[in-house]
Amino acid sequence: MRQDDSQQFASDNYSGICPEAWAAMEAANRGHAPAYGEDAWTKRAADAFRTLFETPCEVFFAFNGTAANALALAALCQSYHSVICADSAHVETDECGAPEFFSNGSKLLTVRTEGGKLTPDLIRGLAQNRSDIHFPRPRVVTITQPTETGQVYSLAELRALSATCRELGLALHMDGSRFANACASLGCSPADMTWRSGIDVLCFGGTKNGMHAGEAVVFFDAKLAEDFGYRCKQAGQLASKMRFLAAPWVGMLESGAWLKNAAHGNACARRFAEAVAGLPAVRALFPVEANAVFLTMPAATMEGLRARGWRFYTFIGGGARFMFAWDARPERVDELVGDLRALAAAAA
Ligand SMILES: *Cc1c(COP(=O)(O)O)cnc(C)c1O
Repeated sequence: MRQDDSQQFASDNYSGICPEAWAAMEAANRGHAPAYGEDAWTKRAADAFRTLFETPCEVFFAFNGTAANALALAALCQSYHSVICADSAHVETDECGAPEFFSNGSKLLTVRTEGGKLTPDLIRGLAQNRSDIHFPRPRVVTITQPTETGQVYSLAELRALSATCRELGLALHMDGSRFANACASLGCSPADMTWRSGIDVLCFGGTKNGMHAGEAVVFFDAKLAEDFGYRCKQAGQLASKMRFLAAPWVGMLESGAWLKNAAHGNACARRFAEAVAGLPAVRALFPVEANAVFLTMPAATMEGLRARGWRFYTFIGGGARFMFAWDARPERVDELVGDLRALAAAAA
C-alpha cells in the first residue's frame, strides 16, 4: 500500500518529516560535531529565530511541546504561584500534570471560554478573585495560539490580553504548538504576534509544522531565561546530539518551509470546511481559522466514516476533529468530502 492511500486527518502528528527538515538533518549527519548544543547547527538555528523574530531572543530546544510548555511555565513562577489558562488548554487537559510537576506545584487556574480564547475580563476575574495568603498567587497567563479548537487570537486581542497582564503583574506565555498556522492565518509577522504584542515567552512547535520532533522555547526577555538551560538538563530535555534537534529548524526557518507548510494545512482545512458546509445534519462547531475543522454529525454518520476507514478524534471540542498537516493531499481531502457527502445524504 502506498503511504498516501492511507493518509488520515485525525492528527497533524500523523504526518512525516517535510523535505526541508529532512535535508537539514541529512546535512547535519555528515560527520562529527560538538555535543550538547555547542555545535554550529544549534547556533545557526538560534540565529535563525533571532532573524525571524527581528530581536535578540534567547532560544532553547526541547523534544516536545509538553516539556516546552511545562518548563517555560515553571521558569515564570514559583511553586506558590498559579497559572491562568482556558479549561480546554493543552497544559490543563493533555499534559498529565507536567506544568504542575515541573513547577513543583504551581496551580493551574482554569476558566470556561469561547473557542479556547481567554479575554481580559476572564483573566481579571481569576486574577482578582482571591488575594489572600491561602490561595496560590496568580503569576502567569498562558494562551494557546491557535487554540485547541483552531481559533486565532487577533493582534488586537493579544494586545488587550498583554495590557491586562501588565496591569495585574502577570507574565504572558504562548503555547504555539501550531504557531506557524496562526502566522499564516493572520498574515502577520512572528514579531507582531509575539513580543510586539507583549508575549514574554513562546513555545514554537516544530513537530506539527513538519519536523521529526522539537519545540523551541523563545524568551523575549533574557532575564526570564536565566538558568533555563539547567532546567532543561534536569528535566531530561538537553539533547546530547543537539544538532539533530536544531538542524531541522535551520531547514524550516531559512527556507520559509515553516510558513509554507502551515499555509498549506490551513488551505486544506478551508477546502474541507467549505466543501462540507451545508450538508444535511453536518455542522461546523467552530470557525475555521487554522488547520482544524470540528464537525457535529449524527452518530450513524460518524460510524459510517469509521466503517469506510477514516480516523478522527471525538474527545476534543465535542465533535469530530479533522486536522490538516503540511502534507495533506487535496485529492485525499476530496475523498473524505465524498464519503461524508454520501453518508450525510443517505442519513437525510
Ligand atoms: C500538540 C500540542 C502540544 C504539544 O504536545 P506534545 O505531544 O507534547 O508535543 C502543545 N499544545 C497544544 C495546543 C498541542 O496541540
